[in-house]
Amino acid sequence: MYYILHQHYESVLRLVKIVNPNKLDEFHSIFNSSSFLKLNPQSKLKFLQKSLPIPDSKYFTLENFIKVVEQTVEEMVQQNISHIDLRISLHLERWKDIFDICHARNIYDKVLARHIDKTIFFIAAIDMKKSEAEIEKSIGALFKKKTLESIVGIDITMYKEDVYKFNKYYKTLLSLRNEHKKKIIMHLGEFTTNDINFEIIRKIKPDRIAHGITLLDSPKLCEFIKHNNICLDMCPVSNKVLGVVDWEKHNPIKKATDLGISVTINTDDPIMFDTNINKEIKTANLSQQQLNLLIENSKKYSAENI
Ligand SMILES: [Zn+2]
Repeated sequence: MYYILHQHYESVLRLVKIVNPNKLDEFHSIFNSSSFLKLNPQSKLKFLQKSLPIPDSKYFTLENFIKVVEQTVEEMVQQNISHIDLRISLHLERWKDIFDICHARNIYDKVLARHIDKTIFFIAAIDMKKSEAEIEKSIGALFKKKTLESIVGIDITMYKEDVYKFNKYYKTLLSLRNEHKKKIIMHLGEFTTNDINFEIIRKIKPDRIAHGITLLDSPKLCEFIKHNNICLDMCPVSNKVLGVVDWEKHNPIKKATDLGISVTINTDDPIMFDTNINKEIKTANLSQQQLNLLIENSKKYSAENI
């Protein structure tokens, strides 16, 4: 049984999978195009996000939202996954019939009630790439009582040009852990350099880091991560598609475990990167003993264990 600690919600692509799955094949063909392959990892992600197929607004109905949730749970059944910490936006704007994240929580709970051995917890997305006005709107929504009841943590994403926004808001976000016992997860070690990474993790001391790959190049960061018991939630297929690291040459899971750093294996954006947990394990080329250790870590660091 697997525990997935890093997965994005991807409601738009999940809807494409329902209403026009051929569009997904077209989208995935970008991975082999020369205009994509020549880009750096950060530009590759931007390129993919700009190229996402978006269904007509008439498809964003309550009925299809329920189908999207059922699709996620069905994948859990097929892939032997018992738990997901799911990163979800606080503003499901395209889904006009979904009032807020609490409404989404109720729909998930109804679908999950038919699968007593499956759990999905919500991690609220805080995107520092957005404007200050949008970030403040997210923070406003985050601190509402019913939002706090629907989520178990937050996950912060940013590019290097967003450091000033991180510095402006991180103390407010830290109060989520100190006053409300929520997990703080930080996307790092894909695009930002290690001088920036060190400043960020020193300030926020995240419970977990999504990816964390390039942090392993810095002995100072490795020491900090180990000393503070921070877990790295790695996603090999996403790294491979974006060109963050060559998993065949350098295996970051092996490197981290050799250093005594806790690691888990995850699917990131499974529909976008055309992946699942079995493909991730294959890409990481793990022995059964290594895989068992990662599964143990994922249970230990799951938001279930707050
Ligand atoms: Zn991610």
